[in-house]
Amino acid sequence: MKFIADFHIHSKYSHATSKFMDLVSLSTWGQLKGIGVMGTGDFTHPLWQQELKTQLQEVEPGLFELKPEYQKTITSQVYDSCRVNALSPHRFMLSSEVSTVFKRNGRCYRTHSIILAPSFQAVDAITKELEKIGNIKSDGRPILGCDVVDIVKIVLNASEQCMIIPAHIWTPWYGLLGSKSGFNSVHEAFGDLTQHIYAVEKGLSSNFLMNAQLSELDRFAILCNSDAHSLQNLGREANLLDTDLSYAGIISALRKNDKNELLAGIEFFPERGKYYGDGHRACGVYLTPEQTVACNGICPVCHKPVTIGVLNRVNQLADRTVEQAEKFASKRYRVVPLFDIVAQELKQADTSQKVQKMYHQILQQVGPEFYVLLKASTQQIAQASTPGIAQAIAKIRSGDIVISPGYDGVYGQVQF
Ligand SMILES: [Zn+2]
Ligand SMILES: [Zn+2]
Repeated sequence: MKFIADFHIHSKYSHATSKFMDLVSLSTWGQLKGIGVMGTGDFTHPLWQQELKTQLQEVEPGLFELKPEYQKTITSQVYDSCRVNALSPHRFMLSSEVSTVFKRNGRCYRTHSIILAPSFQAVDAITKELEKIGNIKSDGRPILGCDVVDIVKIVLNASEQCMIIPAHIWTPWYGLLGSKSGFNSVHEAFGDLTQHIYAVEKGLSSNFLMNAQLSELDRFAILCNSDAHSLQNLGREANLLDTDLSYAGIISALRKNDKNELLAGIEFFPERGKYYGDGHRACGVYLTPEQTVACNGICPVCHKPVTIGVLNRVNQLADRTVEQAEKFASKRYRVVPLFDIVAQELKQADTSQKVQKMYHQILQQVGPEFYVLLKASTQQIAQASTPGIAQAIAKIRSGDIVISPGYDGVYGQVQF
């Protein structure tokens, strides 16, 4: 079965997340967006774990849906055009993210890892071990003072069917290969245990082509996930799969990194990511990697070292040129979230009533957001919205857009 999957999201129990990130809303928005399989996020958090156990039921091995009594409350909020059916279901997969902060050989490393689990039994086993290491109650994404290698051991000990996936590997802070507190290779981080790592998450500020510049990454499935902290951001990046609808089917596709099963990634334009370029947010300074070299990595405004972004970091670690990388890059679709497109066309904030109304009007008349962005005819979109919105979507599909790049925590801006 073909479906779109987003394995990395957060619940209302993670820091700086929307209070609306509960299971009923996630299920509603999963359908509006057109996401077939969505991570639950935060399964190590005791209160969230309780909600998962109370509100979800297993439908296929390792995949869950809301119990009927909870589903009842969402049907009225999902338009007929977006509602799931036997051919396009909506499922949850047990997932979580942990942050590890640790010293190795006198250096400090900070990394984030996504964990996928096949059952509540595995979730319980992982939680029990992590509880011994640090506080898992204060944050849905707990911060643990242990080596990332210990997390791999705990997770695989809980179940061989679990997966551990380094998250947003390129972000300067918390990325496994990040410029500030990361390693220079996946193998440097995991050593002999690298054989148990089958996938990495590329994060919003890099694309497949950039990842293909490192031959070391060839053997890993490169995943696109949203890391959403709000309903609106669900699926801003996602994966297109064609597998059995089961935990084992999905995991097997990731492990084999089989292009007939892990069909494509649906990715952000990396320039829009907030760590793409180099610079200083507070100083309003954006630099290309060449400009950073020219000023010796020192900010011309405050004279402190600039934050080295993802493009520069990829260049540092790459062993292939962009041209050489082309044939190794996975198949991808590039998208800009529909809220952003509508907001820009209507020249209003994405939170404004006008934008919200137009967004929902399009979904109601055309279908789930991914269908609108990837498949619907521009004529159909124009009828449901404006010719400008339809034209913007057509331009994004062909990559015919201009972007001023993001840097040091500032998102890049698109012009259609
Ligand atoms: Zn993270
Ligand atoms: Zn500065």
